[in-house]
Amino acid sequence: MSHHATRTLRELGYRLTPQRTLVWDVLRNHGSHMSAEEICERVNRQFPNVNMSTVYRTLDLLVSLSLVRETLLGPEHRTFEIEEEDAHHHLVCRECGAVEHIHDTDLRGLSAALDVGNSFLVQEVTVFGSCRTCRQADVPPDRP
Ligand SMILES: [Zn+2]
Ligand SMILES: [Zn+2]
Repeated sequence: MSHHATRTLRELGYRLTPQRTLVWDVLRNHGSHMSAEEICERVNRQFPNVNMSTVYRTLDLLVSLSLVRETLLGPEHRTFEIEEEDAHHHLVCRECGAVEHIHDTDLRGLSAALDVGNSFLVQEVTVFGSCRTCRQADVPPDRP
């Protein structure tokens, strides 16, 4: 577990249980989005008795402390990743489910367009589309 995460938990009076540490480490080592099921499966390699409700409780805690970010990448598709300092958004391929990050600064034009009269602050954007790999796969092969 990183110093930042450890400090946040300790300062707020939460114990560093093995489950909490492990859920964090699994996410950090994976380095991108994971579902709670995937996290649970990894955690079970070391702690076979940890079940989904424990994993969800742990994730809810880490999300509430802004240590982990939860993003809905589709209907019923809750994913989790380590919360980064830099704001980012998601591009999701409808065909293969691939996820790419788009940096907040790349969305400035969109944020400005949506912020009509200072009424709406954009925090998170998820765009569904078709990734390069899937689009190339759709192209029919050249005929001789
Ligand atoms: Zn794709
Ligand atoms: Zn992400």
